[in-house]
Amino acid sequence: MSKQSVTVIGLGPMGQAMVGAFIDNGHEVTVWNRTASKAEALVAKGAVLAPTLRDALAANELVVLSLTDYDAVYAVLKPVADSLSGKVIANLSSDTPERAREAAKWAAEHGAQHLTGGVQVPPPMIGTSDASAYYSGPEDVFNAHRSTLAVLTNTDFRGEDPGLAAMYYQAQMTIFWTTMLSYYQTLALGKANGVSAKELLPYASMMTTMMPHFLELYAQHVDSGEYPGAVDRLAMGAASADHVLHTHKDAGVDTTLPAAVAEIFHKGMERGFAENSFSSLIEVLKKQG
Ligand code: NDP
Repeated sequence: MSKQSVTVIGLGPMGQAMVGAFIDNGHEVTVWNRTASKAEALVAKGAVLAPTLRDALAANELVVLSLTDYDAVYAVLKPVADSLSGKVIANLSSDTPERAREAAKWAAEHGAQHLTGGVQVPPPMIGTSDASAYYSGPEDVFNAHRSTLAVLTNTDFRGEDPGLAAMYYQAQMTIFWTTMLSYYQTLALGKANGVSAKELLPYASMMTTMMPHFLELYAQHVDSGEYPGAVDRLAMGAASADHVLHTHKDAGVDTTLPAAVAEIFHKGMERGFAENSFSSLIEVLKKQG
């Protein structure tokens, strides 16, 4: 059986890697990009550059989008919305869960099915066994195209709500950005004290290897709604968060991040959680009411 042919719209680093993976796996690929010159190397590899966007859409049922964000998605698709009927749009552009839900509705209004995707790896990993992406949307549509999409990444279907793949993606990015910023904050503190990034690296890495244990323990607290403070009272944590803040202040480095952390601890104290585990801070952070 011949492999499913596919259209890829958007040829940034990610879209280019995706087209390469499809071609390497024997799929015929039609491409389109606002800046057509980005297709040159792919055409040399065997991709077909559609003369117009409408031609690109007409070429295949499965249309993979790899655009900067959903503003770009609408900028590209709105002028040709009447060509979307019958298409399956695997939208691997990043944006918020709400925008993914709106886009699914918008696509349906134009007769298309929308699969939200959230790619978790950088372009060089596309097509490797370590690559993964979240998907959500109509499960039957996803299943019908899963084997083709699996050429790009392992596929982790998160549910029918089109917002879910974007939610999982943004949840992961929340951890990534805050962890990386806390790392940079630590390196700034080290530099202010004459300690290089290289010297701090093994100690920073050691902290991250301890994290899975804490994540598991505190997931139980959060799901049970019980925050026993036998070994990690919030009052102790608040004092520690203040020490961290003052250490950074004394070192003369930017204190935006440690100040925000200390503020959250003190909100918990004001809510009366001093004797609970510091996992009680979820009560401060979660949606109220
Ligand atoms: P880029 O922003 O580099 O390129 C995206 C594409 O969007 C380009 O083809 C660009 O066209 C097009 N584009 C942007 N705005 C418009 C517009 N207004 N009209 C028409 N086309 C437009 O992104 P990447 O390739 O790096 O990533 C694509 C998606 O994948 C993003 O949503 C990103 O968040 C996600 N992702 C990226 C990762 C990465 O490491 N790069 C990792 C995981 C996810 P043109 O070439 O003409 O400028």
